[in-house]
Amino acid sequence: MEYRKLGKSELKVSAIGFGGIPIQKTNKEQVKELLIRCEEKGVNFIDTARGYTVSEEYIGYALEGRREKWIIATKSMARDKDSMIKDVEKSLENLRTDYIDLYQLHNVKTDEDYYKVLSEDGAYNALLEMKGKGKIGHIGITSHSLDILNIAVETGKFETIMYPYNLVENQGEKLFNRAKELNIGVIAMKPMAGGALTDGKLALKYILQNNNVTTAIPGMATLEEIEENTKVGENLDILTEDEKNKIVEISKELGTEFCRRCGYCGPCPEGIDIPGILILKAYKERYGLQEWAEQRYYSIKNRAKDCVECGSCEKKCPYDLPIRKMLKEVRKCFNE
Ligand code: SF4
Ligand code: SF4
Repeated sequence: MEYRKLGKSELKVSAIGFGGIPIQKTNKEQVKELLIRCEEKGVNFIDTARGYTVSEEYIGYALEGRREKWIIATKSMARDKDSMIKDVEKSLENLRTDYIDLYQLHNVKTDEDYYKVLSEDGAYNALLEMKGKGKIGHIGITSHSLDILNIAVETGKFETIMYPYNLVENQGEKLFNRAKELNIGVIAMKPMAGGALTDGKLALKYILQNNNVTTAIPGMATLEEIEENTKVGENLDILTEDEKNKIVEISKELGTEFCRRCGYCGPCPEGIDIPGILILKAYKERYGLQEWAEQRYYSIKNRAKDCVECGSCEKKCPYDLPIRKMLKEVRKCFNE
């Protein structure tokens, strides 16, 4: 496994990290098994969040007795100082540790958010305080907004940034260059474009060819995914001509108007699971799973036809997707 230095820190993290989102669907014994296998394959970096329901707790259980083998990152959406202090304490409790290596401000989305977290009684000062007490080691920021991170990297306040990066979303490359110049660690989220990319090996290889990226954090909820993903970090040879052509093809096919399944658009007042519905169209049209997708679609209670076009989801989508229009296309696709 290749290891890369995380910004100015002394930490050397595996090029393939462990993304803590999908383990929410498993149980703590399974997570223990997954993390033991990850250790054997050289993975030493884990990223979770207060917002990922049971993820921190499962990880805490799974790492009991083996904490020192891991570099743990988590994050919180708290925006004010008091809430952030409570969240750090909660993360420490969930993760069963007295020290978190990297704590991040999670999904700082708007200018308002950004100035709030950096204000006198904002979340950033809570993290500084916790760092002073030795409860966290480093401070990072995550966002889907290039504008926010372009500002954040210049402040000298953050040791890492996390931003989406994959073969169909490479708009962050200039930002990553700048981060590298400033010796700021770069964590690539959404390596599989939220499930839109199915060739995991190619997707990860593409990301890690970029030396400005410190680590990519695919979610891994099965042993097979661990085998497949860690192989990439073990042998980072350059992209072949065939692979490059394939990347061009995939980019053309997906375009930019596709759901990354981040879930930020919810909750829909009509109870529609927006990413869940949108992906079924992709399964039906792109992956040839027509019958399977139709069965799944018609078994869902609240579907595209139930959208009342209130538009609240679109205001929250970090990719500015025209969700209402996309749901109309879903209706057409399923003859509804
Ligand atoms: S526009 Fe439709 S899908 Fe979006 S929140 Fe409103 S009802 Fe739900
Ligand atoms: S529609 Fe937008 S906000 Fe909702 S899951 Fe997809 S990418 Fe995320």
